[in-house]
Amino acid sequence: MQQNSTSPYAIELNDLRKTYKASKKAPEIQALKGINLAIEKGSMVALLGPNGAGKSTLINILAGLVIKTSGTAKIWDYSIDTETRMSKSAIGIVPQELNLDAFFTPERLLDIQAGLYGVPKAERRTAELLEVVGLSKQAKLTARSLSGGMRRRLMVAKAMVHNPPVLVLDEPTAGVDVELRRALWDYVKELNRRGTTILLTTHYLEEAEELCDRIAIINGGQLVADEPKDTLLKRLDSKELLITVDKDMTDAPTTLQQYHCSLKGSRQLCLRYPPSRVTAGQVMDAVQKAGFTIIDISSREADLEDIFLQLTKRAA
Ligand code: ADP
Ligand code: MG
Repeated sequence: MQQNSTSPYAIELNDLRKTYKASKKAPEIQALKGINLAIEKGSMVALLGPNGAGKSTLINILAGLVIKTSGTAKIWDYSIDTETRMSKSAIGIVPQELNLDAFFTPERLLDIQAGLYGVPKAERRTAELLEVVGLSKQAKLTARSLSGGMRRRLMVAKAMVHNPPVLVLDEPTAGVDVELRRALWDYVKELNRRGTTILLTTHYLEEAEELCDRIAIINGGQLVADEPKDTLLKRLDSKELLITVDKDMTDAPTTLQQYHCSLKGSRQLCLRYPPSRVTAGQVMDAVQKAGFTIIDISSREADLEDIFLQLTKRAA
């Protein structure tokens, strides 16, 4: 499957929209308001957003469980509308809800799933998959007797039976205890290392931070951020000082370039610095050395939580 496509993207969404029609119980809801998102092959991307943001709607459209209202979606360069079979075989989805048939054994469940995807018996990797998700010992127990974390891992294995190049996990660790969460993270990382493109949704910042190299943030059905994690995190180690000085200026003094100095008003400077390496005192010293007397000062700090809140507030 990898050779068939020349597109650099594993998933491509263009102006994707979903409106849930009004019902007796609820008014019409615009769950997705025109999402444009391109996920590179081989990458590991987190789709972050609060409850109700539209994450599951987006995932379920890819899974073929929700019918989009408009826009286009491609998986591995296959249109979900016109190349449905190919697009489906390119993706494995671990849905948010645990929907395992409790009376089958993990072994049997994986076998049934492989059958559904038309994987020939000789190519099935049931034992291997159970091994990687740490369920070899449970292979012949009924799913009913598995813990929540084990079921979640079984769902991951189930999504992988047809060896798709793209794996999508919707809130993979919701309700999974800390220890198992780590094991699941390690496994997902390993899959990515071996070449699988991963998209996961989460409302845990920590999870996005730990796992992903790119973070997209969705809120109220709109994409409010989409950038490499490092860029987003750089904003973390960043503080701003607003310093009012005694002289009028028309340009920010070049001597303060080191602190990304910009002019906020004719007498107000905005300076940015990494608090892990620089103190506010050093920044103020530099301002005084540049020939200014400091009249007033205020500071502002951003962390990922803040960035997230800022971005999600704006769109709400
Ligand atoms: P998330 O996964 O980010 O929590 P969802 O995609 O589940 O968000 O939900 C987005 C919005 O769409 C919410 O307002 C939710 O109530 C609504 N919604 C989700 N599924 C349905 C549905 N089947 N019918 C009507 N509204 C829905
Ligand atoms: Mg959801």
